[in-house]
Amino acid sequence: MKRKITIAIDGFSSTGKSTIAKQLAKQLGYIYVDTGAMYRAVTLYAMQQNIIDEYHFDVDKLIANLDKIKLNFLYNEKLGFAEMFLNDKNVENEIRGMSVSKLVSKIATVSEVRKKLVSLQKKMGKDKGIVMDGRDIGTVVFKDAELKLFMTASPEKRATRRYKELLDRGDDVSYEEILKNVQYRDHIDSTRKDSPLKKAKDAINFDNSSMGLEEQFERIYNFAKEIIEK
Ligand code: C5P
Repeated sequence: MKRKITIAIDGFSSTGKSTIAKQLAKQLGYIYVDTGAMYRAVTLYAMQQNIIDEYHFDVDKLIANLDKIKLNFLYNEKLGFAEMFLNDKNVENEIRGMSVSKLVSKIATVSEVRKKLVSLQKKMGKDKGIVMDGRDIGTVVFKDAELKLFMTASPEKRATRRYKELLDRGDDVSYEEILKNVQYRDHIDSTRKDSPLKKAKDAINFDNSSMGLEEQFERIYNFAKEIIEK
């Protein structure tokens, strides 16, 4: 049997990490974990409990309630990927909207939140055979991942992608609002104290500004194959 590896994909918001990660996991028969969905689900919980909104954030209350947040991924055969469940409720759709996107990076600065989620992520990847995407996978969660990628693309390219995604969902959003959100999240994610978004020293820098999906997949799949067959 071929050896199983760990693949860590980090990068800025809306660089297409999850699309590539899903494809890669499918092709290799690996588990795919979208860690952004976990931070988004915690954010949704905090919004529901009036812990956070645009004007206030009760960090202490969030920390005191962390044990009440149960997160699970359940594989959806039809969709071909795992959906996010918060306290046994499917929140996959709710967590993708702009209201969560606007607050998630604040939630992700809280060390206690990160500690809880990183510990869950480590458990999910303990047997390898996993593709995980996020902001700190190659630098914190799986420092010893055999393949690390750091995805970048221009903010405008990323905002355009995200805009199309949200329009397809039927959301009422503007391109300007999304561009602002992408830049705002990049800033908070890269400057926070705990586990800031940065390229791991041994990660491959992958700028996909002018690269189609097929070419991206082919290149990344070849990186993985080379390591697996070594
Ligand atoms: O990947 P996605 O855009 O859904 O992530 C939402 C947010 O969650 C990010 O902007 C970041 O603030 C946070 N995040 C994080 N660490 C991760 C994954 C996501 O801080 N590993």
